[in-house]
Amino acid sequence: MATTLERRELGNTGLKVSCIGFGASPLGNVFGHVSTGDALAAVGDALRLGINFFDTSPYYGGTVSETVLGNCLKELGVRRDEIVVSTKCGRYIDGFDFSAERVTRSIDESLARLKMDYVDILHCHDIEFGSLDQIVNETIPALQKLKETGKIRFIGITALPLGIFTYVLDRVPPGSVDVILSYCHYSINDSTLVDLLPYLKGKGVGVISASPLAMGLLTENGPPEWHPASPELKSACGAAAAHCKEKGKNISKVALQYSLTNKEISAVLVGMNSPRQVEENVAAALELLHEGLDEDLLGEVSAVLEPVKNQTWPSGIQQR
Ligand code: NAD
Repeated sequence: MATTLERRELGNTGLKVSCIGFGASPLGNVFGHVSTGDALAAVGDALRLGINFFDTSPYYGGTVSETVLGNCLKELGVRRDEIVVSTKCGRYIDGFDFSAERVTRSIDESLARLKMDYVDILHCHDIEFGSLDQIVNETIPALQKLKETGKIRFIGITALPLGIFTYVLDRVPPGSVDVILSYCHYSINDSTLVDLLPYLKGKGVGVISASPLAMGLLTENGPPEWHPASPELKSACGAAAAHCKEKGKNISKVALQYSLTNKEISAVLVGMNSPRQVEENVAAALELLHEGLDEDLLGEVSAVLEPVKNQTWPSGIQQR
């Protein structure tokens, strides 16, 4: 019986990532303050329980997430070749800049904060806020040059609107974008990423799906103040969480398990801010492996969420 997290191939990169990836945005205090002790214990537990994939960005907490993650990994004495680290470029606390000059400078700043010589993946962060022509003709070519320097191993793009991915991938030379990171599109309330999976597979592009808890919507505590969902969506998710609680169940567990079931998705990034959350989430993944999904509960939660199924929110300066 498997006692450790499953590892999955990430597209054509040759990387093998744990099916749960550690989303480090909470380490930037994005969902509330996280103490240094909790951050260190959460990252330490993640490593101990088989998570080898860590995702951050200079945007999260205005560089705080990168610095805290870098400090934790250094203090824990992790061997660099035993983990997969992704960060991002182009989105910063003071705005967006996808120019070749900025993203080239950005990686040096990120590496200094992370205390590393290279990252495995550098994503262009939330490209729907930039000019897609610039992403295709300037940003991705600049990242190709960074690949040659060895500062990054693979290139990714992230966005909320799914049509953005096909727009870019249809316009760049084959193989120049290795992975995509989609968020809030493969959880119980919104599973629209599934329609894009055959296209991505055909292109040989690895798939990372973030926010299985819909950035806090599918948790007992509910979403943070800044959450962009409509009041209707928030209220339906609140009702679904209450339904699970009434039955003595936890909505976060079934939500994460649902996201993990599709093996075309290499890694599901969950934001975690404490050892308790890491332990609960890894336990949920192992339970899924041994006992399968609680189909009855999933059916009930899906029924509560049916009126808002696949409802999303606008993001960026263009919708495709
Ligand atoms: P998420 O859906 O993973 O939810 C995170 C929230 O759920 C946090 O408040 C966390 O403390 C809480 N949580 C985690 N485990 C829990 C548990 N077992 N019980 C109760 N609550 C629990 O959303 P997210 O953090 O936004 O997404 C995950 C990661 O994906 C991010 O940290 C980031 O690394 C990445 N991400 C990237 C993008 C992008 O590139 N545009 C967008 C969203 C997320």
